[in-house]
Amino acid sequence: MGNEDKDVEIANHLQGGKTTEERYRRMVDEVQDYAILLLDEKGHIQNWNRGAEAIKLYAAAEIVGKHFSIFYLPDDQKSGLPERLLSTARLEGRAVHEGWRIRKDGTRFWGSISLTALHGDNGEIIGFSKVTRDLTEKKIAEDYLRDLAAELQLKNDALRASEERYHAMISEVQDYAILLLDTDGHIINWNKGAEHIKGYCAEEIVGQHFKVFYSQSDQDEMLPHQLLATASLRGRALHEGWRIKKNGTRFWGSIVITALHNSMGELIGFSKVTRDLTQKKEAEDQLQEHVLMLERRNEELDRFAYTASHDLQEPLRKIQVYTDLIQQQPDNPDIVKQYLEKIMLSSQRMGELVRSILDYSRLANTQSNIEETDFNKTFAEVLQDFELLIQKQNATIHLNGLPTCHSIPSQIHQLFANLLSNSLKYSEAVPVIEVNTDKILGKDDVAIPPLYHDSYYYRISFRDNGIGFDSSFSELIFVIFQRLHARHKYTGTGIGLALCKKIMDNHNGFIRAESEVGKGSTFFLYFPAS
Ligand code: ADP
Repeated sequence: MGNEDKDVEIANHLQGGKTTEERYRRMVDEVQDYAILLLDEKGHIQNWNRGAEAIKLYAAAEIVGKHFSIFYLPDDQKSGLPERLLSTARLEGRAVHEGWRIRKDGTRFWGSISLTALHGDNGEIIGFSKVTRDLTEKKIAEDYLRDLAAELQLKNDALRASEERYHAMISEVQDYAILLLDTDGHIINWNKGAEHIKGYCAEEIVGQHFKVFYSQSDQDEMLPHQLLATASLRGRALHEGWRIKKNGTRFWGSIVITALHNSMGELIGFSKVTRDLTQKKEAEDQLQEHVLMLERRNEELDRFAYTASHDLQEPLRKIQVYTDLIQQQPDNPDIVKQYLEKIMLSSQRMGELVRSILDYSRLANTQSNIEETDFNKTFAEVLQDFELLIQKQNATIHLNGLPTCHSIPSQIHQLFANLLSNSLKYSEAVPVIEVNTDKILGKDDVAIPPLYHDSYYYRISFRDNGIGFDSSFSELIFVIFQRLHARHKYTGTGIGLALCKKIMDNHNGFIRAESEVGKGSTFFLYFPAS
């Protein structure tokens, strides 16, 4: 029977002409959802209704007369809970309580009780009414919700703690720049590693597009956007290359960009991890340069051995031919005189060649006598050596100041002497030579390889108004024994500029030439400056 039906039935009873008390008793008896009992003044059960039977499972016959503490857990009985409730009701008129109670079959239910004192005409307590509701399901639901809430709280706390740890970990990492980017590539967070590597602090960079770390040419080629496109397409993009720090200097960055997706698989941004591998890159570059240098040296040595023997054999062959000719006519004084002169010239040339080759091979020793050298002084000494020639050719030399560098003075002497002698030699007009110096940053001159872009150099330019040469030979002239001009007109060994090149190598510097036929030549020397 549903509650509504029962309400109707109770209403019928009420209208049914029985005595009010009778109707009242029937109503109480019939109520199923509440155990409604009468207790005597000591707590013994006086009546039993359907609700009491349904909740506690005892039949009226087996329970009426028993003390109501029978429904309480042994511990509650021991602690005197039933008596306490009675005395509260006695004193205050009412006692309410919720707690686990025991059914007849030993199982528990969560009872919510209300105990009310009943008074006689003189105000004395004649018993108690006790209404009990079974709120087990509610209790279970509440406990479940409370446990769930506690569990969620715990999980939440753990998650927050792990999130905090994770954030702390990322923000403390020093060796890697670990960033979050939004889907367009704008920077969302910044860690210590990023600050360390790129030089920006969080306030000045968060919100900017990550392309600011890329060189202008990389930006022009859309490299940053291409990397994001690759990451969104393939999940990940890897790249290594020169990147720019806040102060404009470069670092070699090795980066991994990873696309981030939400649970629906939609792109929500990117993580970007960058490592500064500048030192590794520089070491690799240096190694590669070293290998290249060794290869070049080997080639140079091969060419050197071949050409040296070839160039030395030429005067030697002449000496042999002229000696043969003299031997055929030893008594002819004119022939002897004529050929002896040629033999002398050839042996002089051999001597010159041997001396130059010796000079060249001696340059391998780079550690000798490095000292602070005032190049003005060295240049003045060279001018003295060439005094007669300069006078003879009526040459003008404009010197606009030279630096003082850590160097090997004898080699600097040799360097200036070779350049000056060439400018005087490869000239048809009255020679005018101009020497200038300026200080430059490596990246501002084409001659300086990228590795040295952040270093400063003294650039000495040595300009003449001589016959010049085709600019396509501007590298070849530094190769040993390479000569561009007619041998019979301009004497030489082809060793001078190779020597200059080696001297610049020994000083961690560079040399290059610019020229145009008939318009003079300029030789640039680059010395490391502090
Ligand atoms: P060389 O003993 O022949 O002068 P170098 O090694 O000094 O040998 O020079 C190599 C070649 O470079 C020269 O043979 C010449 O053809 C060219 N050269 C060098 N300096 C100049 C210059 N100042 N003007 C024009 N050509 C030059």
